[in-house]
Amino acid sequence: NYRCRSAFKLLEIDDKFHILRPGLSVLDCGAAPGAWSQVAVERVNALGTDPSAPTGFVLGVDLMRISPLEGAVFLPEADITDPNTLRAIQSLLPAGKVDAILSDMAPNATGIKDLDHQKLISLCLGLVNLAQNILKPKGTLLCKFWDGHESRVLQNRLKEQFREVRTLKPQASRKDSSESYFLARLYREMKAEKC
Ligand code: SAM
Repeated sequence: NYRCRSAFKLLEIDDKFHILRPGLSVLDCGAAPGAWSQVAVERVNALGTDPSAPTGFVLGVDLMRISPLEGAVFLPEADITDPNTLRAIQSLLPAGKVDAILSDMAPNATGIKDLDHQKLISLCLGLVNLAQNILKPKGTLLCKFWDGHESRVLQNRLKEQFREVRTLKPQASRKDSSESYFLARLYREMKAEKC
């Protein structure tokens, strides 16, 4: 039983692209109420349910509170855009880094389509910056966005940093016509920032 229907979007994406494997460590951004984290716990074997496979790790972050979930660590009431949240995340990650960053984050919608679009794009751009600190080379970033004129900005930024970027529209999110996901894979080894 999943906490939210959104689980089916991640299941659908993962069945097709196999981004979650036993042993991987995952950061789930915008994790409340916790359905994506449930899927991640199962697929990375965070509970060690399959003793023959490596055990993974799941950390979920959200502005809201999240009911405890066996196999996941939650950082509730935390804003992903706050630098203190980055420090907290780093201190909670076993090796300080993750193999995959998932984001189903959505800002409170104002109903003004263009404004909501822009707010979500800037949240996602923030994630690309966060990746520089916590994503392992060859890692994956999956993020939801609402389509609009700035989607290209995000897509181009992802293409700079990842070898492979796809746009996904899961069947399970068909009803919300502007909702899509970018799946960015093979994070590039980052050279030192230019001054
Ligand atoms: N994937 C979740 C699940 O399956 O249970 C559902 C996520 S829900 C669609 C979007 C979440 O993003 C909300 O819980 C919201 O609080 C969170 N969110 C929005 N902005 C955020 C931010 N700046 N930092 C952390 N979480 C944020």
